[in-house]
Amino acid sequence: MVGGGLAGLTTAYDLMKSGVQVSVHEASDRWGGKIFSSAVGDRLADAGPDNFLARVPEGIELCVELGLQDRLTVPVSPKPAYLYVDGRLEELPKGTVLGVPTDFEALESIISPAGIARAKEDLELPPTPLSAHTTVAQYCRARLGDEVTDTLIDPMVGGINASSIETLSMADGAGQLFAAAQRNPSLVSGLREARIGVGATLGSAAQNQPVFHGLEGGMATLIARLVEELEAGGASLHTASAVGELPIDADHVVIATEAHSASRLIRPVSVDAAELLDGIGHASVAQLTIEVPAERFDPFDASGILVPRPNGFVMTACTFFSTKWAQYSADDRYLIRITSGRYGDERAISMDDRQLADTLLGEFATVFADPGTPLSTRIVRWPRAFPQYEPGHSQRVDDINSALESDAPTVHVVGNSYRGIGIPATIGLARRTAAAIAA
Ligand SMILES: Cc1cc2nc3c(=O)[nH]c(=O)nc-3n(C[C@H](O)[C@H](O)[C@H](O)COP(=O)(O)OP(=O)(O)OC[C@H]3O[C@@H](n4cnc5c(N)ncnc54)[C@H](O)[C@@H]3O)c2cc1C
Repeated sequence: MVGGGLAGLTTAYDLMKSGVQVSVHEASDRWGGKIFSSAVGDRLADAGPDNFLARVPEGIELCVELGLQDRLTVPVSPKPAYLYVDGRLEELPKGTVLGVPTDFEALESIISPAGIARAKEDLELPPTPLSAHTTVAQYCRARLGDEVTDTLIDPMVGGINASSIETLSMADGAGQLFAAAQRNPSLVSGLREARIGVGATLGSAAQNQPVFHGLEGGMATLIARLVEELEAGGASLHTASAVGELPIDADHVVIATEAHSASRLIRPVSVDAAELLDGIGHASVAQLTIEVPAERFDPFDASGILVPRPNGFVMTACTFFSTKWAQYSADDRYLIRITSGRYGDERAISMDDRQLADTLLGEFATVFADPGTPLSTRIVRWPRAFPQYEPGHSQRVDDINSALESDAPTVHVVGNSYRGIGIPATIGLARRTAAAIAA
């Protein structure tokens, strides 16, 4: 196994359970890749993901299997998220799904009358062409117009993937919207029907289902449990052990790194696969987490803020950790994470720490309130960390697998660059790959 992030550790864990002797090599000096916690003042806080989607089952299933069911957490209570639009903060309209409205009246405080009228045309317009090559922007602009697309859909969908919706595949990067668009020529009606469908299946339980889960002790708890299991099962585990290039002496080699690293490793055994891997773009992100005295912002009732691209800010979003998660609440201090960087916007990642902190604190003061001098700060940089699912992504991944199958059939790729960017999808691909190898 090359790479000791979530994908590598999950694949190794399943292979080990099938009786395969596994060896895992991780380049850095710690396990977990994008998943780790580090100190902000005297508290440890998630530096990468802080939650995963509940409706995709693979995340919860693995946690339960590892005995972590009692450590699954849900956000404290539904706190509203806000959007920064026209120099003011407005609550994210109720009923939006990835920024697409299902209730036009709820848009009135945030979208102009002309923008709402244009969005309503979605209900009547003839079908819009939709294929594996359609981008989110192409489809949503055609159905709902520019104002709703730029103000609501770009920050919501683009925020999840640090992407630009202008280049994000509707089929591979926004599956929930793609499914609704396939169900009904009107995107809004397709989403309303999906909601009725879920309600009919789950009844009132649907209202109470959490959207996200976190873990006590942060997402690193999952990594620690996987490593414990691997150690107990006798796997051979190596940190600070970067793999230079293939071939490696093993029956099967699983490359569980970012796609750009996988490309370098694989080139000596499959030029075609390497070229295809190289074609996957990546976005860079930088995050500033601050700890501030609670009295600066009391009273305080938000889970976070999204800053749409037309504002021109470096900051893209912020998450109020202390109002979102019980484990980060403290009577006297708030933890707030300010995120910057998206596909095509490298301003944040190219700034030095001082410049980045000054810029983000200044923008945060404009958008929300002046945080003063934080009690503590932490900057985490994520260069080329978010793979971009551009049109034709699924076909590209099929082609990578075909090239490997013919050039190097014992080499496999797993990770969040391929069949879904989030934690549950990453676990799902890892488990399917381990099952195929073991079989
Ligand atoms: C800031 C941020 C926030 C996120 N938030 C969320 C969220 O809230 N919810 C969610 O579901 N997902 C979120 N994600 C995505 C989530 O983190 C990923 O789905 C998941 O962690 C990917 O795991 P992975 O194993 O595929 O990749 P990685 O974690 O990138 O692991 C790859 C590993 O390979 C190692 N490596 C690279 N080259 C070599 C080599 N040559 N030899 C040995 N090792 C090598 C790297 O050091 C790394 O440890 C977020 C990601 C980021 C960056």
